[in-house]
Amino acid sequence: MDVAFEGRVALVTGGSRGIGRATCRRFAEAGARVVVHFRADRTAAEATLAELPGDGHLALAADLADPVAVDDLVSDVVAACGRLDVVVNNAGIYEDHPVTGTDYAAWQAAWQRTLGTNLIGPANLIHRAVPHLIAAGGGRIVNVSSRGAFRGEPGHTAYGAAKAGLNSLGQSLAQELAPHGIFVTTVAPGFVETDMTEDHLAGARGAAIRAQSPLGRAADPDEIARTIVFLATPGTEYATGAIVDVNGASYLRN
Ligand code: NAD
Repeated sequence: MDVAFEGRVALVTGGSRGIGRATCRRFAEAGARVVVHFRADRTAAEATLAELPGDGHLALAADLADPVAVDDLVSDVVAACGRLDVVVNNAGIYEDHPVTGTDYAAWQAAWQRTLGTNLIGPANLIHRAVPHLIAAGGGRIVNVSSRGAFRGEPGHTAYGAAKAGLNSLGQSLAQELAPHGIFVTTVAPGFVETDMTEDHLAGARGAAIRAQSPLGRAADPDEIARTIVFLATPGTEYATGAIVDVNGASYLRN
C-alpha cells in the first residue's frame, strides 16, 4: 500500500459521490485518514466510507453555503481526528439559468446559491482550516474548478464566474500561504461522467460534448481524483499556485 499520506487527515467536500468519492478512495489508498464530507445523503456517504481501505475514516455533514455549518465542520474534523492536513474543495453545483429565460427573482437566487456554494463556501472553509493546517506543520489545499472558468458556457454564467473566482482565490492564497508551508493548487476538469453531467452527456448533446476532446470521451471521475491526490502529495510543493487542466485537450489555453 502507498503510504504517502500516512498519519495525515484529508477532508474532501462532496465526498459521497462523483469526483469526491473517487478522491476519497485515492486518498485512503495512499494512507490518509479521510473525512468524507456530504450535504444530506448520509446513505451515500456511508457507502463511500465502506469502500475505503484503512481505518479511522469518518463522514460529516454540512451545508457549505452556511458559514456556521462550515465552521462546525472544521471543528468537528479536528475534534475527531486531532489534526487537518489536506483540504479538497470539491463540492459544487452546476445549474442552467439562461439570462433571457430566467425571471429576475430566480436569477438573483441562482447567483446567490452558486456563488455561495462554489466560491464563498470554499473561501470560508479555507479560512477556518488554515490555522489547523499551520498547527499541523503545513498542509495542502486543492480546489476543484472547471474548464467553464476559462471558456464559459451558455446558461452557466454564475457557475463560470464562481469557478473563475476560485481560480483567483487559489492563486492569491498560494502566494499568501507558502510562507506557512501551505501549498494551494486548482484542478480544472472538462466534462466528467458523474451525476452532475448525466443530462448533458446524454443523447446527441453528449456525443457533441465527447467529440470536443480528441480522446472522444468525457473523463472518468478517477482521472480527476488522481490529479487531485497528486497535487497534494509530498514533493509537489513547487506546483503551488498552478491551475491544472484535466480536459482531454478539449480546451487549450496559454
Ligand atoms: P456531483 O454533483 O456528483 O457532486 C457534487 C457534490 O457536491 C455532491 O455530493 C453534493 O451533495 C455536493 N454539494 C453541492 N452543494 C453543496 C452544499 N451546499 N453543501 C455541501 N455539499 C454540496 O458532481 P461532480 O461532477 O462530482 O463535481 C465535483 C466538482 O467538480 C464540482 O465542484 C464541479 O463543479 C466540478 N466539475 C465537474 C465537472 C463534471 O463534468 N462533472 C466538470 C468540471 C468541474
